[in-house]
Amino acid sequence: MEYETEFFDLGYKIYKPDFFFYGQDGKIKKITEIKSRNKDEKISALKALSIIEKNYNIKYELVSYEELLEKYRELPFSLTGTITEWIQSENTTIHKAAKGKLNGHYNIAHSIDTKRKIGEHTKKLWASNSTAKQRMVVGLKKSGLAQKGKFKKPREIRLCKECGHNFEVIATSIQTFCTQKCAGNFAIRNATKSYINKRKSIHENIRNYIIQWSLQNKDIVIQTPFNKIKSTLEPLIEDIHKEFGVKDFRVISKAVFGKDCGRKELLKFMQKLCNENVC
Ligand SMILES: [Zn+2]
Repeated sequence: MEYETEFFDLGYKIYKPDFFFYGQDGKIKKITEIKSRNKDEKISALKALSIIEKNYNIKYELVSYEELLEKYRELPFSLTGTITEWIQSENTTIHKAAKGKLNGHYNIAHSIDTKRKIGEHTKKLWASNSTAKQRMVVGLKKSGLAQKGKFKKPREIRLCKECGHNFEVIATSIQTFCTQKCAGNFAIRNATKSYINKRKSIHENIRNYIIQWSLQNKDIVIQTPFNKIKSTLEPLIEDIHKEFGVKDFRVISKAVFGKDCGRKELLKFMQKLCNENVC
C-alpha cells in the first residue's frame, strides 16, 4: 500500500502540513495545521498557509493543541493513544510540546513499556477491521481531520491498457487508462476494429451466400449469357440486399474477390463453381 506525501513549494521553503482533508475526488480540500500557542510559530504558519491557499486554492485551518485536544475529548481511548504516539513520533516536529496537558493522558506519563504496548495495540487496530478501528475512522472523519500518513487514501500503480505506462490512482478508482487521450485512442481503435470485423464477416457471408445460391441455381448460372448478367442475376442481388443490406454490385464483387472485378468475373466464378461440382 502506498500513501502519497504532499509537499508545497512556497518559494522560500518546502512546507509539509500536518493534516490533509480530502474531498470525494481524492484531491486535497483542506489543510489543518496544529501549532502551539507560540506567537511566532503561528505567524509563520499563517504566512505559509495563506500562500498555499492563494497558489493551490486549498482552504486551511490553524488550531492549537489545546483546541485539538478539545476536539478529541470524546473519542475512544485508543485514538487518544494514536494521537499521543503521533505527537511523540520522531518524524513530527512537535513532539516536544506533547507534555503536560497536551499528553493524551492528561499529565499521566506513560512508562516506556506502556507506550510500546499502546503503539502495538494501535497498530493492530489499524491492521484489523474491528469496530474499534471503524470508531476511530468515524471519529476522525467527524472532526474533519485525517492523520498524517495513516488516513490518506491508499493508492496503487496500474498499467495503462493503451500506452503501457504506469500511472497512480486511488485503489478504489475504476480508471484503466493513464489519460483521457489514451482512453480515447483505445475507444477509437476498438470501434474501428469492430467495424472492420463486422464488415469482414458480412463479406464472408455474402461470398458464402453466392456460392450456395450458385449451386442451388446451377441451370440459371450456367445458361446466363454474358450480355444478360444483370437481368438474370437480379434475384440473387435482391436476396443479398434483403439479407445483408448491400446492393452495390462493387461491394458484392469485393466480397467475393477482395476487390471489384466486375460482373463478368462474378459470373465466371459462379459458373466455375457449378462445373466443378458436376465433375
Ligand atoms: Zn496511457
